[in-house]
Order: sequence, then C-alpha cells, then structure tokens
Amino acid sequence: MFESLSDKLEHALKKLSGQAKINEINIGMAMRDIKRALLDADVNYKVTKNFVEQVRKQALGEEVIKSVSPAQMIVKIVHDELVKAMGGEQKDINLKTSRMPAVIMVAGLQGSGKTTFTAKLANLLKKKGRAPLLIAADVYRPAAIEQLKTLGAQIGVPVFSIEEKDALKAAKQGIEFAKQNSKNVAIVDTAGRLQIDEEMMAEAERLKRELSPEEILFVVDSMIGQEAVNTAKVFNDRLDFDGVVLTKMDGDTRGGAALSIKTVVDKPIKFLSQGEKVDDLDIFYPERMAQRILGMGDIVSFVEKAQETLDLEKTQKLQKRLIENEFNLEDFYEQLQELKKMGSLQNLIDMIPGLSKVVPKQEIDESNLKVIEAIINSMTKDERQKPGIINGSRRSRIAKGSGTRVQDVNMLLKQFMEMKKMMKSVTKMAKSGRKITAQN
Ligand code: GDP
Repeated sequence: MFESLSDKLEHALKKLSGQAKINEINIGMAMRDIKRALLDADVNYKVTKNFVEQVRKQALGEEVIKSVSPAQMIVKIVHDELVKAMGGEQKDINLKTSRMPAVIMVAGLQGSGKTTFTAKLANLLKKKGRAPLLIAADVYRPAAIEQLKTLGAQIGVPVFSIEEKDALKAAKQGIEFAKQNSKNVAIVDTAGRLQIDEEMMAEAERLKRELSPEEILFVVDSMIGQEAVNTAKVFNDRLDFDGVVLTKMDGDTRGGAALSIKTVVDKPIKFLSQGEKVDDLDIFYPERMAQRILGMGDIVSFVEKAQETLDLEKTQKLQKRLIENEFNLEDFYEQLQELKKMGSLQNLIDMIPGLSKVVPKQEIDESNLKVIEAIINSMTKDERQKPGIINGSRRSRIAKGSGTRVQDVNMLLKQFMEMKKMMKSVTKMAKSGRKITAQN
C-alpha cells in the first residue's frame, strides 16, 4: 500500500537533502514532484493543490528555516500536512447512548466490503468487551445474509435475520432482539447496490430516520480511486454519515481516497479494513498513516496488534528460549503459528519501518509458510528439538513425507541456522551492553 506514493515523496524530498538552504527555486521543484506524486496516487486535484500550497507557504516562512536542514524541515511540514489532510485526531465511533443497544448502521455500495467490515467490527467490539449483535438488513440478497451468518459463526457473534424482504422490519426486530438478549451494540448491515440508486438511498434514509443510529458508517472500497470520493459525497449528502471505513487497503491501492475523503466530505476516516480475515481491521490514526505514507512504517499499530492477538505467555517463553539460545524448530513452528494469528504477513511487513524495502514481495508468499509447516510437520520430535541430527537420509525422508524437495528442506534448515546464529550474536551484544528490548 502507498508504495509508489511513499517512494515518490521520498525521492522528491531526497533531492532537497543536499541543499543548504531553502529558496523559491528548490522549493518550487520539490513541490512539483510532491504534486505529481499525489496526483499519481489518485489524490483529488483540489486536495492536491491545496496541500502543496500549504506546504509551500510554510516552507517559505522564515524562522524554521535556519534551525534544521531543508530536507528535514520539509519532511516535517509534509508530515504535518498529511496528518491535517487526514483529519488530525483519531476519532472514535460513538456508542454512548441512554438506550440499549447502541445502534451502528453500516452503508455502502455492494462489493465495497460492507458485510466483511460489519463482521470485523463486531469482532473488534467483542474483543473490547462489548456484546454485539449483527443484524442482516441487506434483505434483497440471500447470499449476503448467508455470508453474514457464516462470518458471525466464525467470530461467535449472533446474527439476526428475518425471512421477509423488509429491511426496516428486520432492523427493528433485530434491535428488539438485542434488547431482550442483553446485547449492547446492534450493527445493522444495510443493502448495497452495485451503483447508487434512488431506491437504495431512500431506504437508507428511512432506516436512519426510524432507527436514529448512534453511528452511521460509510464503507468504501479504496481501490476505486477517485470514484471513492464521489460515492462518499453522494452518500454524505443523503445520510450525513459519521465516519468512513476504507476497505481493501491491503490491495494495490494508490491511497488517494485516504487523503481526499476528509477534505471533500469533511468526515473522519475511522477504520481501515485490510484483508479478508476477521482480524484485519485497524482503527485509523491520521498520524500513523502519515508516517506510513512517508515510509516511516507503523510500528505502533504493529505493537498494538501484537499485544492484542499474541499469547503473551507463549511469546515470552519463546523470547526467553531465543535469548538462551535454546530455540529449536519446534519453537520456530510455534512462533509461526502465533504470527499467523496476526493476519497476513504482507500486512505485518508493511507496518514495520523499512521492512517492506528489505523483504521482496515474492518472498513473503504465504504458500511458503505452508511449505515450512509441512516440512516441520514431517520431522520427528527429536529432529525438531535437535535439528543438528538431520543428515542426508533424514532430509530425503522429510522431503518425501512433506511432499517437498530436498532443496526445500535444506533451505529451511539453512535459514533456521542462520537465524539462530544471528540471534546468538544479538544476544551476546545485548548481554554485554544494553538490555534486550521487548521483554514484556
Ligand atoms: P459487500 O457486498 O459490500 O457486503 O462486500 P463483501 O463484504 O461481500 O466483500 C466483497 C468482496 O471483497 C469479498 O470477496 C470480500 O472477501 C472482499 N473483501 C472485503 N473486505 C476486504 C479487504 O479489506 N481486503 C480484501 N483484500 N478483500 C476484501
């Protein structure tokens, strides 16, 4: 995500790094590059123009110029402007209500990822200790109701639906059901169409009027570029929604929507959906997103996600074994399982500063993981605990057993040994010097 925008901005800013002073000329050049980078990323033209103007104005203001290097200063200004363009502060959804349950209405076009998001949100709220109920009000598509039921079963959240094709009735009865069953949040998945049409809009308006939801979220596929902004505008004119959810941010999206929506409809982005797993939902933080765009990674989200999903005890045990250099293939396997819980590897890599530049895309092919798993699965307990004993004949037996090639087994063992060696030197350094981080 955002790779090309990041690269282009970095390139534009690098050009300034050799310059001793900021002046109209080099600022002009940098601004041209930044403008092109933003337009290429599908950022709305007006937003781009405004953005570049703001950066230019601030960059040419005098006081700041003397204290830091021009490049540092522009990076800071661009960063701050990015944060501002994306809404500044993180905005929570509103669940405060004197009635029970709080009602969240989810709207958007069909195929935008609305149903998937609805389930992801329920999952997140459940993890935070809420008792959610999912309501299938997309009554025209039996498949959508089925999909919601499947997702609900996956996350252990009940799904309310009725046979009749009456969205309002489904929603009202669902809310009543929530009330009677002590569910404190009702999430209403409304009908989407492939294109905006009057009937859908009128129905969404009616739902809003009758349900008075605490929160209306508009879901939009970030891959549709400029169209995402146009759709947001139409929905906002009719529904005056409270927040935006950008989906499919794991795809090859150019990111323009994230930068344009806030300025165009003046509604905050609240969530990023980035994957097909129910855990692939992130709260949107403008600051972190700006850092991500500028290639500074998103280490905070990464740590948060780790804290949320990983089994702390297990992880600490593994860390201890790593430090004591007792880490074996069994531990390695266990760690892989833990990491897998955190969602797709590409998402994880995107979050760690610099890592996406070091790890080429093809190497994090998820099928590699399956191969590794199959190989380790075909080993005996002894072999996993003492990989040193795996000789030639054992290697070919393991390859056969796992349906892989001897080269694959060799490769895995080599990587494992290298990792161990690296850990050994890191641990040595840590023991002699500073304390190793991430102890807790
Ligand atoms: P709806 O018609 O708006 O309810 O959309 P769905 O939730 O059914 O999603 C449409 C398609 O997009 C499905 O194939 C989903 O698996 C997929 N999808 C949804 N959200 C994401 C996401 O964040 N990333 C990716 N890669 N795919 C997604």
